[in-house]
Amino acid sequence: MTDRIPGFSTLAVHAGAQPDPTTGARATPIYQTTSFVFNDADHAASLFGLQAFGNIYTRIGNPTNAVLEERVAALEGGTAALAVASGHAAQVIVLQQLLTPGDEFIAARKLYGGSINQFTHAFKSFGWNVVWADPDDITTFERAVSPRTKAIFIESIANPGGSITDIEAIAAIARSAGVPLIVDNTLASPYLIRPIDHGADIVVHSLTKFLGGHGNSLGGIIVDAGTFDWSKDNKYPMLNEPRPEYHGIRIQETFGNFAFAIACRVLGLRDLGPALSPFNAFLILTGIETLPLRMQKHCDNAKAVAEFLAGHPAVASVSYAGLPGDKYNNLARKYAPKGAGAVFTFNLKGGYEAGVNLVSNLQLFSHLANVGDTRSLVIHPASTTHSQLDDAAKIKAGAGPDVVRLSIGIEDKEDLIADLDQALKA
Ligand SMILES: *Cc1c(COP(=O)(O)O)cnc(C)c1O
Repeated sequence: MTDRIPGFSTLAVHAGAQPDPTTGARATPIYQTTSFVFNDADHAASLFGLQAFGNIYTRIGNPTNAVLEERVAALEGGTAALAVASGHAAQVIVLQQLLTPGDEFIAARKLYGGSINQFTHAFKSFGWNVVWADPDDITTFERAVSPRTKAIFIESIANPGGSITDIEAIAAIARSAGVPLIVDNTLASPYLIRPIDHGADIVVHSLTKFLGGHGNSLGGIIVDAGTFDWSKDNKYPMLNEPRPEYHGIRIQETFGNFAFAIACRVLGLRDLGPALSPFNAFLILTGIETLPLRMQKHCDNAKAVAEFLAGHPAVASVSYAGLPGDKYNNLARKYAPKGAGAVFTFNLKGGYEAGVNLVSNLQLFSHLANVGDTRSLVIHPASTTHSQLDDAAKIKAGAGPDVVRLSIGIEDKEDLIADLDQALKA
């Protein structure tokens, strides 16, 4: 190889992978094993003491998963990554390194419905208090900062409306508050937006969506930007204080610019346990090889469908940041110039009932609760993903009664438009 820095598509195919040293297998093998034999007693002791890197037990790490971790770290421009069983598992592990009971974190109000639930209910039972802010009014983030704030959490492209978040403005607030900015980059994928380039300290993904891309495997990942100083003011004791479970080592001092990824693995994943199956890691890695091709097609199709809907008489409005004149079009041009993603919403003139009818009449679109599949998907958030919120909270989350969410797949756009056209007429 020359010393050229490989481009994104090359990294998507190659980063982290080599022919298998034992067999020459070119695709990354599935190391479907729970545990790994030590060379000798000293090797075993050094692995357990974190003095050497290596495989011990698949809950803590696995060679197939390691390729996935290296690949996503490369695509996101981070120093290291940790793959876990789901996007939600990634979120728990990240915050567990940062918050102690009674602490707060600020989260954008526009989030995946499952994250709103997780933050509101499950995290409350851990004593982690979410303080909501409005990504359309950056000053709400500034005002939400308190001495107990430990992190800020946003989505780059936000669910369900596909709005684009001003990552740099919020990163500046995180910096002046002395807390890390965590960006859920699931809907954008690193092909469209690389949050670390805009000041994010930690990136999380649901690999279940565009990265895996085929609707066949759950997975999540945490990417460490390596940018944050965890020792300042001893605000993050998990990373900064001697760890009794590892002979008193300090994670930040020992591991430097990948300390956060290490903490997530050896304190979070080891003890909480949501390990990713190597089989899922293999499927997700295979998906990532075509990420640039798929993502561009997803975006081009989404734009064509959004344009069609914007001109349809049954449609009151379309919220797609890729449309000129959309509220988020300027942010889309800045942060996601290749395309504004494939998930967006539109409002039906007929309200709740029209939304329920539409999802029943579509044939090519699948009515289900997922996004980022090769197939086109549809859901009516008010009667499903966001049904547990009250009406005001639904509207604030972009999931009012007349809203339908689409996740546009990679089929022929003419077929998608024809299906929507017949269902809107029915
Ligand atoms: C799906 C999703 C999650 C949760 O991921 P799982 O893999 O389902 O646990 C988190 N954030 C966003 C934006 C999502 O779309």
